[in-house]
Amino acid sequence: MNWTSKRALITGGASGIGLATVEILCRMGGRVALNHLPNDPSGIKEVKRLRTAGYDVVSAPGDVSNPGEAENMVTAALKALGGLDLLVNNAGTSNSREPIPFENLEAMDESFWQTILGTNLIGPYRCSKAAADSLRLSHGVIINTASVAGLGTRGSSLAYSASKAALINLTRNLAKALSPEIRVNAVAPGLVDTPWTKSWPESRKQKTLDRSLLKRLVLPEDVAKSIIFLAGQGAITGEVLVVDCGSSIA
Ligand code: NAD
Repeated sequence: MNWTSKRALITGGASGIGLATVEILCRMGGRVALNHLPNDPSGIKEVKRLRTAGYDVVSAPGDVSNPGEAENMVTAALKALGGLDLLVNNAGTSNSREPIPFENLEAMDESFWQTILGTNLIGPYRCSKAAADSLRLSHGVIINTASVAGLGTRGSSLAYSASKAALINLTRNLAKALSPEIRVNAVAPGLVDTPWTKSWPESRKQKTLDRSLLKRLVLPEDVAKSIIFLAGQGAITGEVLVVDCGSSIA
């Protein structure tokens, strides 16, 4: 697909997988709105860096876990870009610095669940709903960043895995609901080497590496390229592409 002048909004675009996606789309000539948390200085910093390098990027501050704020962020981004061809619902949270063992139910109280679901599940729904009219006009595409945690019995916490399983379900049902004009797909990364997993125990990363059929961890660019691949494949909708170097089938 030719991305020249195509308009994309990437949530959680200031670091990791989101930033890698923003950078590749910029290099391919796209016009990109980079969403970041309003109080996250790295969002402004990355937009400035990319604009200085000559790329067509605008800042789209907003917290997708916040009803109203998410929709307003999308509306402002659509206005700045003059429409939308691609929405990447990538912002997500584990709501903890380190993985929480699944048996530790006490660690996940009401507010923990609300934060996880509000960000990882309802956030993508809010943004998709706010972008739907615009995407219908352009026959655009939505890509959700899910996780292998949503397909199996691993993940940073039981709540996180449940949120990503629900996001996969939402992907399939939105693909039906928004067809035939809009395609909706998801990527499901395994453990990715991003700021997110920096604080994770080395032993956990080593275990994933040992299981990995390709004997390496997934890089943010691997996931970004998979997002762009799925976005460009006009015959694929309602699908989930696992990007985990073969670690979950081992
Ligand atoms: P990251 O921490 O580098 O990126 C996440 C970004 O989302 C951050 O910039 C953060 O500020 C932003 N964000 C968080 N909550 C937000 C909100 N409410 N509104 C707007 N922005 C918000 O981590 P990453 O690994 O690049 O994560 C990106 C996505 O990939 C997440 O959805 C995550 O669940 C998923 N994922 C990550 C891994 C992994 O191992 N790193 C594996 C599977 C899936």
